[in-house]
Amino acid sequence: MIANERAALADSLWAATANPSPERPPLHGEAEADTVVIGGGFTGLSAALHLAEAGKSVVLLEAETPGWGASGRNGGQVNPGLKATPEETEARFGPDLGRRMVAMSGGAGDLVFDLIARHGIQCAASRCGWIRAATTPKALATLQEIGRQWRDRGAVVDALDADEMERLLGTRAYPGGLIDRRGGNLHPLNYALGLAEAAERAGARIHGHSRVSGVQSTDDSVTVSTPEGRVTARAALICTNAYTGGLAAPLGQSVIPVTSVQVATEPLSDKLRRTILPEGHAPSDTRRLLLYFRKDDAGRFVMGGRGALGDGSIGKRQAALREAAVRLYPQLEGVRWRYAWGGDVALTRDHAPGLHLIAPRVMAGLGYNGRGVGMATAMGRVLAEWAQGRPGAELDFPITAARPIPFHRFRRIALGATVAAFRMLDRVGI
Ligand SMILES: Cc1cc2nc3c(=O)[nH]c(=O)nc-3n(C[C@H](O)[C@H](O)[C@H](O)COP(=O)(O)OP(=O)(O)OC[C@H]3O[C@@H](n4cnc5c(N)ncnc54)[C@H](O)[C@@H]3O)c2cc1C
Repeated sequence: MIANERAALADSLWAATANPSPERPPLHGEAEADTVVIGGGFTGLSAALHLAEAGKSVVLLEAETPGWGASGRNGGQVNPGLKATPEETEARFGPDLGRRMVAMSGGAGDLVFDLIARHGIQCAASRCGWIRAATTPKALATLQEIGRQWRDRGAVVDALDADEMERLLGTRAYPGGLIDRRGGNLHPLNYALGLAEAAERAGARIHGHSRVSGVQSTDDSVTVSTPEGRVTARAALICTNAYTGGLAAPLGQSVIPVTSVQVATEPLSDKLRRTILPEGHAPSDTRRLLLYFRKDDAGRFVMGGRGALGDGSIGKRQAALREAAVRLYPQLEGVRWRYAWGGDVALTRDHAPGLHLIAPRVMAGLGYNGRGVGMATAMGRVLAEWAQGRPGAELDFPITAARPIPFHRFRRIALGATVAAFRMLDRVGI
């Protein structure tokens, strides 16, 4: 993808409707802090906020502006839980750590909505629940089993039949689904900007346009360099997710960046609004190349999906999303589509995020597999706990080494072929 095509991906509905936010000038010269945070998305901003609230001095360095990455461009669904089911997580990580991971990931919605309430973040947050829409009977059975596992652990997660789905979604396209009442939706960029302001009020210093080019670590300290400055700290947190590139190699090779794209209409008429997602939910469906959709608080219809990788251009994918939206809601035929954008999701081999020790005083958290509104916020808190000296064994997430995915470069190509195959299987409904 050419550079200006990538830059255009940041030109989102969320950027067009963002709350005013102060300029954050680049770092100039030398600075010191207890912790330096690299990357100003949900992970880094949550880490900075939690550290500053604990009385620690924090400098956050963001290559562009806070929320510029996936955090400011996503679907805004607050969807609790890891990709693995609670039982799979507990079986893999054991009854103690596994249960803590399930509680941390399942509680990610509580964390997000608590932060929003506590800091008065204006981001159109709605805790109406996250709906997962089944596309096949087999997918419905899987969702029902996931629902049972969460209910066994005390979460309010309910099955929805075709009639309830039709009432909540305004379409009969889905035979059933699940509603996880811990989730909901929000304006993602305004949530990120609100976290940045809350972190600054608590004392964090945030610099925009400060791309980190090097991280040097000794046993006692770590020094992080940008083109015009340097920060020396006791710990560094790398929170660059799918945009990590060559920083702290092989960190960037532990994830595969995949572009997810979105399109949005002009505000719909009141009549249309009442027929589409009347209670303001933001569902995602279970097809392999999932679709996720919602309205924003001005009543624009937003549709998102994966697959812009070796599978036609970004523009083609966005056109396909507009067609999918009209198939789902024929009443959208003829409505003007005003916005088209996208961003990179970080996929991992085991579909779980990574908490990676890069050097004795450097930790990274990344790889949310498209579920980062809740999980990245929760991971930021874990990173903040580690930076304050909490032993690894007491954290709610396991620390591992960052392992490059074998043949990383070719994985992107292989993934392109997989995307094309998945699209075909989704089309025939298998
Ligand atoms: C289109 C799209 C839709 C999505 N929809 C959803 C959804 O509905 N629900 C959900 O839960 N998740 C969703 N996700 C995933 C979610 O957005 C991410 O998991 C989450 O935002 C990751 O946050 P982060 O802070 O780790 O990374 P990012 O928000 O990507 O932030 C990383 C930041 O690091 C900065 N950076 C990179 N390198 C450097 C450097 N060298 N120096 C300084 N800064 C640097 C970047 O500029 C960037 O701002 C979606 C993602 C995309 C792209």
